[in-house]
Amino acid sequence: MRDEKKEICRIFSEASHFVVTSHQNIDGDGLGSALALYFLLRRMGKRARVVYDGRVPYFYRFLPGSAQVLSFEEFSVEKEPFEVLVVVDCSNPARVGRVEGFLKEARYVVNIDHHPDNAFFGHANFVVPGSPASALLVYELARELHIPPDADIATSILTGIVTDTGGFQFAELNQNLFAVVGELVASGASLSTIMYHVFRFRRLEALKLLSRALHHLTFDPVCGCASMHLTQEDFRECGAQEEDAEGVVDYGLYIPEARVSVFFKEIAPNTYKVSLRSRDDFDVLPVAHHFGGGGHQRAAGFKITGPFPSVYREVLDFLRTTVLGSSK
Ligand code: 5GP
Ligand code: MN
Repeated sequence: MRDEKKEICRIFSEASHFVVTSHQNIDGDGLGSALALYFLLRRMGKRARVVYDGRVPYFYRFLPGSAQVLSFEEFSVEKEPFEVLVVVDCSNPARVGRVEGFLKEARYVVNIDHHPDNAFFGHANFVVPGSPASALLVYELARELHIPPDADIATSILTGIVTDTGGFQFAELNQNLFAVVGELVASGASLSTIMYHVFRFRRLEALKLLSRALHHLTFDPVCGCASMHLTQEDFRECGAQEEDAEGVVDYGLYIPEARVSVFFKEIAPNTYKVSLRSRDDFDVLPVAHHFGGGGHQRAAGFKITGPFPSVYREVLDFLRTTVLGSSK
């Protein structure tokens, strides 16, 4: 079997112009991994750009290189040719928004990801579903390339790890992960700065929005489902943006008996982005797949349209049946 890591190193060594991208609704793993790849490629003397179809949330702007991220429009104006498209932390091409068109233009598509439902859409696919973060795969690539992380690379990678492990709460900080974190800190990453920005650095509008979501929090003790929602009106009245709802879904699992937390975010009239989180043995990925989405066993999402009462009932009914079915 071909060694995908080695194949990616070969592509990285041979080509000279790269575009790196990640999924819409970007998180610290997507952005951290993309920036780490950007810094790695530049260390190799390559021309690289990070292109993202969306706006980088303000709480990730502490990341080195985040100001250099180009929007889809900015890159389209520049029209710089590229040979390789690197897609990171993204299970399928549709998730990169309008950047999806670049897949046809690129000579090579490199796919680096840790989602179990990855579609293997690249010419080279370094996909490890068991990995706690895509950023750890970028760390492995840096090792394979014999490039010791500098402070920028270390900060980017550690942000990915911190985000997707929920600050080492969702993945056990075992000896291996501890050794990687130790090396990244020794290379100049500040764990406390990263933790602060990923989990606490939130504007007033975001906290007002959180209080609304918590006000709507309900819990069904029979199936262990916690649920919250935010309407467009909530966003308007709080003066909040979509990025201000980051992390809201996690609060449902604060309830000791909760097995699943579900959060409905109205992103356009009667259009909801639904986030799912679960604890222990309950797998939310089949639930997300049922509604046309994807993700991981413990964190997944999808979009659904319709009036809130019927959307809510449909999702909760499906969840209840699945959760109760799984505990038999
Ligand atoms: P979140 O709820 O934070 O938006 O997403 C949780 C996880 O589910 C992430 O790994 C994210 O990539 C994935 N995810 C969220 N929404 C979708 C979706 O609509 N489609 C797919 N394929 N994955 C999604
Ligand atoms: Mn990830």
